[in-house]
Amino acid sequence: MHVQTIPMWTGKSNNYAYLVTDEPTKESVIIDPANPEEVTPVLKSKLAAGEIKLNAIVNTHHHWDHAGGNDETLKVFPHLQVIGGKDCKHVTKTPAHGETWKIDGAQRAVFTGDTLFIGGCGRFFEGTAAQMHKALNVTLASLPDDTKVYSGHEYTKSNVKFLLAVSNSAAIKRLHDFTKNNQQTQGVFTIGDEKAHNVFMRLSDPEVLKATGKKDPVEVMTALREMKNAM
Ligand SMILES: [Zn+2]
Repeated sequence: MHVQTIPMWTGKSNNYAYLVTDEPTKESVIIDPANPEEVTPVLKSKLAAGEIKLNAIVNTHHHWDHAGGNDETLKVFPHLQVIGGKDCKHVTKTPAHGETWKIDGAQRAVFTGDTLFIGGCGRFFEGTAAQMHKALNVTLASLPDDTKVYSGHEYTKSNVKFLLAVSNSAAIKRLHDFTKNNQQTQGVFTIGDEKAHNVFMRLSDPEVLKATGKKDPVEVMTALREMKNAM
């Protein structure tokens, strides 16, 4: 499996689309092609070079900055299936567990949309702290530790500032060092790394309990999110 990152709205919302290709067969899907202006030219040149067979659009979730490019993309590539939650436009197929994507093979990867970011998590726009706790610490945490994380935005630099305000662990310092020299962090860190440096996945860490003044995991999650929002 090969993953090509296509950055979108760099310097603004810093979104990522991902072109995922099964190399032996060239079968490919494009994940969250929200800004066709930046994504379609890449797809066209890969197709022209015979490097991919494009089968589907995959949407991590229905927000416009992830699924908002479906219309335009389908105008150019009308044969594509659209795989995503039932709220995404033109969906032809909804998986049983639509929250996260997992591709097994030589390299395991998960495309986490706005749920898990490197060193952070999404705001609770349409869900609750309890749902985020379950998504991060039950669903994603149950993936093998070597699963690489590809999130929907590059937010790591600002996430690290918050992590350092909560804890000075060696894992957080390592992530901080990485962000000093690297603009992009997708596909570098794993679920195992997130369990070590992401405080939203460390709800019983004594430092996290101390920083939030809470004990119950859902209350800790709520407090962390409020602290991060206020930063
Ligand atoms: Zn987003």
